[in-house]
Amino acid sequence: MARYIGPVCKLCRREGEKLFLKGERCQTEKCAFTRRSYPPGQHGQGRIKLSEYAIRLREKQKVRRVYGVQERQFRLYYDRANRMRGGTGEQMLALLERRLDSAVYRMGFGVTRREARQLVKHNHILVNGRRVNIPSYILRIGDKVEVRERSRKLKLLESSIAMAEARPVPGWMDLDRGSYSAVIKSSPLREELNEPAIREQLIVEYYSR
Ligand code: SF4
Repeated sequence: MARYIGPVCKLCRREGEKLFLKGERCQTEKCAFTRRSYPPGQHGQGRIKLSEYAIRLREKQKVRRVYGVQERQFRLYYDRANRMRGGTGEQMLALLERRLDSAVYRMGFGVTRREARQLVKHNHILVNGRRVNIPSYILRIGDKVEVRERSRKLKLLESSIAMAEARPVPGWMDLDRGSYSAVIKSSPLREELNEPAIREQLIVEYYSR
């Protein structure tokens, strides 16, 4: 599946808030959004009043960018969530969160979801003892995710675990960082997913217009 490979700080500036796509740099003064908190491009500093449509579009784009998902796949998550029981927006976020790359990031193995995605793609992650290198793999309750034993000495893991100490451990997984593993014990709850603030109702309205 394709992925965005352009400059990521532009995405934060476009969405008008920090999306924390660059790990450590996002916490420093070097953050492009801290320095230039207006949209990129020639007319970035002009005053623009967003239409109702544009507000919904921006919310959809923001969430897509946070999770690093292309439009086609994102739409499929919406369609799938729409067929599930419960609120469509909430189910869609739960699906995004249960993607293997996102779960690995939540476990603290990867400073960003991009980095976690790379760990998955490079065969460092096992699900139920078997190698899975598909970042969009959706985890189910009871699945055990772990870092492959010979990958546990990676420098990248050491630094990302140290940074992850400051992040809350999601309640929907039993995480044991000592053994580089976690077991999925439930579907993610809505209140655990507010980073950055997401208004999923706007996304539902965008697709159901
Ligand atoms: Fe770049 Fe700042 Fe966004 Fe991080 S939060 S990706 S440093 S603009």
